[in-house]
Amino acid sequence: MDLLYRSTRGSGQPVKASQAILKGLSEDGGLFVPDQIPALDKSMDELAKMSYQETAYEVMKLFLTDFTEEELKECITKAYDSKFDTEVIAPLAEADGAYYLELFHGATIAFKDMALSILPHLLTTSARKNQVENEIVILTATSGDTGKAALAGFADVEGTRIIVFYPKNGVSPIQEKQMVTQKGDNTYVVGIHGNFDDAQTGVKKLFADKELEGEMAQKGFQFSSANSINIGRLVPQIVYYVYAYARLYAEGKVAKDEPVNVVVPTGNFGNILAAFYAKNMGLPIAKLICASNDNKVLYDFFQTGEYDKNREFVLTTSPSMDILISSNLERLIYRIAGNDAEKNAGFMAELNGDGKYSITDDMKAQLADFYGNYATETETAEKIKELYEKTGYVIDTHTAVAAVVYDKYKAANGDGNTTVIASTASPYKFTRSVMNAIDSKYDSYTDFELVDELSRISGTEVPKAIEEIRTAPVLHDHICEKDEMKDVVKKFLGI
Ligand SMILES: *Cc1c(COP(=O)(O)O)cnc(C)c1O
Repeated sequence: MDLLYRSTRGSGQPVKASQAILKGLSEDGGLFVPDQIPALDKSMDELAKMSYQETAYEVMKLFLTDFTEEELKECITKAYDSKFDTEVIAPLAEADGAYYLELFHGATIAFKDMALSILPHLLTTSARKNQVENEIVILTATSGDTGKAALAGFADVEGTRIIVFYPKNGVSPIQEKQMVTQKGDNTYVVGIHGNFDDAQTGVKKLFADKELEGEMAQKGFQFSSANSINIGRLVPQIVYYVYAYARLYAEGKVAKDEPVNVVVPTGNFGNILAAFYAKNMGLPIAKLICASNDNKVLYDFFQTGEYDKNREFVLTTSPSMDILISSNLERLIYRIAGNDAEKNAGFMAELNGDGKYSITDDMKAQLADFYGNYATETETAEKIKELYEKTGYVIDTHTAVAAVVYDKYKAANGDGNTTVIASTASPYKFTRSVMNAIDSKYDSYTDFELVDELSRISGTEVPKAIEEIRTAPVLHDHICEKDEMKDVVKKFLGI
């Protein structure tokens, strides 16, 4: 029996995994969720002996049940190869009493690579399985990291095109340079005048546009999504939590079934939801610690049960977390509403209308495994400096937000559990903020002088992804207003 996926908003037939991957978002605007979360069917002793790729197969086969073993293994092999600069794919680094799970060893040095290096293969396999002949058009809104990781994943993948919208003034200089230098005839990068939420809302509108869908179908195109709402991104993200635990167990850092805490710097709620799914598969995770920056809508939500996006949008030094609508939270809301699509749809309608909703006390009681807090800009910078001075280990701004929140959790709760902090970007991706945190004298350095200096003080090699953009030519210079996104898409597709 195949595991089926249904919309968090209720309408439409349940679909198989490959169909959910192809569609990205359900027609009613809801997100696909599996009918149940499968339990791990390998023991920790077995998992402890497995490579990253083997672990990926054991986790993903339970969710993508309509993929054959051969199909899934081929996707995994193509994704987790020498694009990563370490054979273990996701290493753990111990610093100052916590384990940093480094999810930034892929092509674009941020954790989005973990899922976006496999998504193109899952998508093209899904298209083949469902006799789809249209060209797949990936439409993505990015707060910086998704865009480049998706571009790198899809560039020159046959049968696909990719269009990325990013907030023109809302990403780091290195993030922007990474995107606008992207090669590949099937890639298109556009800066919009607006913030990430504008870009994401615009993309959602295009997905829901029936007229556009018809025009595209006539010309042999159909949309799919590479955003973290696609189940084909969520499932690969569960893998590294299982892998990290298995490594800790294999190395004797945790005893059998010993609970660990997981701290996740959170934006769209995809990464921490994957940890929640891992816990529900039976992985011994105790607390799911949700770390926010000054855009602390999730912290307020965990405190009060009210999700309220009516607030000032703050640009921070952790731009990939500058988000006021955490799309993947909808999957959690649906679940704690007792898998009640109607109830969830009601909340989402309120969010759409008034920009806020309040969950019931019953629902809030089910959030006991989560702890939310946030880090200010000053705390984040101080943490980078403090950890560097104490241990020599340099973390990026997003990871530092998590490290600050971990300190706050420890001070408030002190459960003494072994803790894994998701390290979501290389410090080389946010070099200026990182180096400024360490010493204000770096103010006058150019971006690439900072890169070389970071390499010197941390004793780490400059990643290939950074070396490449030193000299790469700008290939994309398109800018548009937020209400012009549809025209941009049509122009690129020639329709
Ligand atoms: C995307 C991103 C995040 C936020 O992850 P979500 O899954 O959206 O919560 C955190 N840090 C970095 C570096 C990212 O790129």
